[in-house]
Amino acid sequence: PIQPTANIWHNGTLIPWEKAQIHVMSHVIHYGSSVFEGIRCYSQPQGAAIFRLPEHMQRLLDSAKIYRMDLPYSLDQLCTGVVDLVEANEIAPCYIRPIALRGYGEIGVNPKGSPIDVYVANFPWGKYVPGDDGADVCISSWNRAAPNTLPSLAKAGGGYLNSQLIRMEADVNGYVEGIALDVNGYLSEGSGENLFLVRNGVIYTTPLTNSVLSGITRDSILTLARHLGIPVIEQAMPRELLYIADEVFFTGTAAEVTPIRSVDRILVADGGTGPITRQLGDEFFGIANGLRPDRFGWLTPVKVN
Ligand code: PMP
Repeated sequence: PIQPTANIWHNGTLIPWEKAQIHVMSHVIHYGSSVFEGIRCYSQPQGAAIFRLPEHMQRLLDSAKIYRMDLPYSLDQLCTGVVDLVEANEIAPCYIRPIALRGYGEIGVNPKGSPIDVYVANFPWGKYVPGDDGADVCISSWNRAAPNTLPSLAKAGGGYLNSQLIRMEADVNGYVEGIALDVNGYLSEGSGENLFLVRNGVIYTTPLTNSVLSGITRDSILTLARHLGIPVIEQAMPRELLYIADEVFFTGTAAEVTPIRSVDRILVADGGTGPITRQLGDEFFGIANGLRPDRFGWLTPVKVN
């Protein structure tokens, strides 16, 4: 269960955690009409810092725009709200969950007339994909939604019904996560992570045309790879490329950089964490934890304690 904190940001003010409640007849409950974000704040030697805050809040605005939700807050106001909340709750490291939802008003599918509420919560949250020596994953029998059904560039509540099917199926079959194929049978992503593989020294990831979220960790890893001079290719890939890859890993705010040990019980190489995964992970965690220079300007410092 979530560990409650003192405050939640609601439409511009801080309210007590217990007071952040909505009515059962709210539009979002029935139709999944929300857009949200997941952001991490890391502890650092100098204090604490939020990882890529403006990029996350811009994606929230983009998700809202795709779903015709007018958020009455600017990017700056949203970022300031997050910083205020984290500083007020004094918890680092933490996971931050902004959400904009369609509230109590209309009960028809057309949400016109339902109010829009914006909340931000933060709370402690550790490792998301279990498995210290790499994750054992499967290919899901569920596909990602076709591009003309649910827009994959929007991080919206309703889309996570598909993610739940993928993750629950993986779980009952003894895997920690599932990887979905897209509508054409090409690799897409995990239920809440982007997918990378390494073969012959080249990094591959699924392009945005294959029903994936435009992950901010994905972008960070692509940036780090280019900086390190490792070639990267975004291209559609068949499932079996995972079986013969030298390295496979997930990226995500919750998952961070998670090495994958096996896919469908087939070991990836010898099952250990590969050198490129390790190098990228070291860079990523080095910056997030404040042990390496923030050379790409990814950190927003916050005063916690
Ligand atoms: N794909 C899906 C479906 C996700 O839910 C997430 C987590 N937000 C990601 C990819 C990774 O995105 P990010 O790195 O921005 O957290």
